[in-house]
Amino acid sequence: MTRPDVIIIGGGIGGLVAAGLLALKGRQVLLFERQARVGGYVTGFTRDGFYFDAACAFVSACSPGAEFHNILTELGVIDELIFLPINDVWNIYPDFDLRINYQDPTAYLECVRARFPEFAGEISAYGALTSKLGREFVQFEQAPLWKKLLLPFSFPALFRYARRSHADILGGVFGNNPDITLALSALPTALPPSRLSYAFVAVLWEKVLKSGVFYPRGGMRTLSAALDRCIRRHGVNISCGQEATRIITRGRKAIGVGLSHGTEVYADWIISNGNPFMMQRFLPDGLRLYGRLHRLERYRPSLSAVLFYVKLPKDALPPGWPYFVSINTAADLEAMHDALEAGSMDQGLHIVITTPSLMDETLAPSGFHCLKVLVHAPRADLFAKTYGFDNAFHQLQHQVLSKIRELSGLDLASHAFFVEWATPATLLRMTGNEQGAMYGLDAACGQVGPQRPPNRTAIKNLLWAGHYTHPAHGIVGSAMSGSFASKIILSDT
Ligand SMILES: Cc1cc2nc3c(=O)[nH]c(=O)nc-3n(C[C@H](O)[C@H](O)[C@H](O)COP(=O)(O)OP(=O)(O)OC[C@H]3O[C@@H](n4cnc5c(N)ncnc54)[C@H](O)[C@@H]3O)c2cc1C
Repeated sequence: MTRPDVIIIGGGIGGLVAAGLLALKGRQVLLFERQARVGGYVTGFTRDGFYFDAACAFVSACSPGAEFHNILTELGVIDELIFLPINDVWNIYPDFDLRINYQDPTAYLECVRARFPEFAGEISAYGALTSKLGREFVQFEQAPLWKKLLLPFSFPALFRYARRSHADILGGVFGNNPDITLALSALPTALPPSRLSYAFVAVLWEKVLKSGVFYPRGGMRTLSAALDRCIRRHGVNISCGQEATRIITRGRKAIGVGLSHGTEVYADWIISNGNPFMMQRFLPDGLRLYGRLHRLERYRPSLSAVLFYVKLPKDALPPGWPYFVSINTAADLEAMHDALEAGSMDQGLHIVITTPSLMDETLAPSGFHCLKVLVHAPRADLFAKTYGFDNAFHQLQHQVLSKIRELSGLDLASHAFFVEWATPATLLRMTGNEQGAMYGLDAACGQVGPQRPPNRTAIKNLLWAGHYTHPAHGIVGSAMSGSFASKIILSDT
């Protein structure tokens, strides 16, 4: 290959999307991935005929007209994927449970209203406000500058609520009713209401709930495998097993990448899809990735997770068990989160059980299911300190399984075969995300939308893509970030 126009460090969803969109417009792209294959967290593995998703369990915004669908269509890969709707989610709390339809906000609210008829009016008010803020947020992104400058008049809800926490709104509308707080905290963020940005809730509402949540037939890994095939077709040169350890600069401009075995490769532009806290160390002394406004030190990485991958005889699954089951053992989400931040899981557990073979029966041999049990966990260092020794870890596993049996009736301890587990250290090894962070940065106030680090860095021609950057985390947030990074290069050249 001749000298590439763009080098991409990392083949997570953000890196793959950026690579594909640039190649589509004729740019020569070289992508380095330190693992044996691309995909980052969006991957899976097979054992004895069973398939397991390594991390992710669903994807959104992939119905026609939604962001991820648009990106996949532009890349020409949409027809290679089949998205199966996840209609029924079972949310279990210490004292009640809810079956929720996540395919649209009206159905979602209807489920909550049916459980809490005494709050019917407040639930409608909450829905209307969230929807209005979500719509304004989406419109703001495309608005001309003059409209943005007139924020209080053009986007009144955004002006008033953009920096508020979810707890502020729940408190204002429902007077801190603990059950409603739990029921309306079911979105995939791993944050309690006091930390969670209400603007982020509103955007999820507008973008995710309105277009539904889906599981790709064949498992989550089919998503990255399809992107891999498609971007190679567009001419992207993917080099796996290559770790970037240095960003080469001239003055304040990035001009190339140094690899772990000493090779140096030069290009006009560099996009990093990796962990910026780590990449900061790859820069020459004195150069900082971001300026005063977006100092890296002020951002907090998200929490991590422990995962158990399980085989289960079909008849061991209780009747009516849906693909996605979320079990929250804590009545006090704030106390649970504070404990997790401090390295302990003894103030409650948030457990998510997904059963891919219920969506696509070819993923497990006949007569069996494959399950993934995900538990939100402290960051890698703290987790290792508390649970590092086998005994403590087995104790945690026992605690998780007995809570699952007590609250959902699923007896994994007697029927399941444990194939593998992953700890926060595994997630860190897999992708290099800081301390095994699930979402790069979490969706706290001050860390979403324009307040998240932008794609452009303080170093000329060095861009960022992926879940550490604007607009947000998750497969869709990372894909959008990759698309934004590619647009910057295309418009600047
Ligand atoms: C357990 C778990 C469950 C999740 N569930 C969901 C879900 O159901 N739905 C959802 O939308 N999101 C989910 N997420 C979040 C989602 O997976 C991420 O936000 C998203 O995939 C991040 O994509 P990314 O582009 O930032 O890259 P990442 O997935 O972080 O990948 C970064 C890539 O860069 C490579 N890399 C890093 N450093 C270097 C280097 N120096 N040289 C070369 N290569 C390098 C890594 O090896 C990796 O392949 C989940 C995350 C976890 C951990």
